[in-house]
Amino acid sequence: MVFLKTRSEIDRIREAGKVVAEVLARIGEAVRPGVSTLELDELADSLIRSNPDCSAAFKGYGGFPNALCTSVNEEVVHGIPKKEKVLKEGDLVSLDVGVFRKGYFADAAATFSVGPPAERQRKLLDCTRRALSAGIEQAVDENRIGDIGAAVQKVAQSENFSVVRDLVGHGIGQNLHEDPQVPNFGIPKRGYLIKEGLVLAIEPMVNEGTHEIRTLADNWTVVTADGKLSVHFEHTVAIGPNGPEILTG
Ligand code: MG
Repeated sequence: MVFLKTRSEIDRIREAGKVVAEVLARIGEAVRPGVSTLELDELADSLIRSNPDCSAAFKGYGGFPNALCTSVNEEVVHGIPKKEKVLKEGDLVSLDVGVFRKGYFADAAATFSVGPPAERQRKLLDCTRRALSAGIEQAVDENRIGDIGAAVQKVAQSENFSVVRDLVGHGIGQNLHEDPQVPNFGIPKRGYLIKEGLVLAIEPMVNEGTHEIRTLADNWTVVTADGKLSVHFEHTVAIGPNGPEILTG
């Protein structure tokens, strides 16, 4: 179901989103060679809980064991933090954070390079950031969901990268995942009609190679089918009277 939000509900999601943004920045600063993905998860969990009324949205969601999704290199999303998964120079790590506060969720993700990125990595990171911005620009009243996906896809494909098709963005509010789905591909002027009050998690997952993915035997970790890199950036965005409002910025 689609739920349009009132201004006061959007303000509540923004409060959760502020915590998401702070936590993502702090754990991004902690990314360095030698740190394990479990250490990043523990840091995220304690930072989230240090905020009054806040809890980690992903912990226990569908049985997910941790506060943070940590996806390294060919891992696309939903990587489970592990003590033995130690980051090294040259890795890319995607960190996905969700916060639940006073009945409302906010969700954002970013990919960080461990040490300076190689040229190819920098290009993929930059392209995915631009794809997210292009998608957000289309998140306006009277546009359609296809306008968002088409804008994301155009940026990704302009660099000969591909967008993941089997996983999509989503509405968000009192539930972590609400309708409508927000694919990272589409046709302009097609799909669900966007109205003021809609709040969307827009989250391009851009692959270096094929768009195809598979899920590992842990039933969570999604990886690229060809083992090439994947990058993920996400914001929670409200459709406001004057255009898109990033609530996790
Ligand atoms: Mg999301």
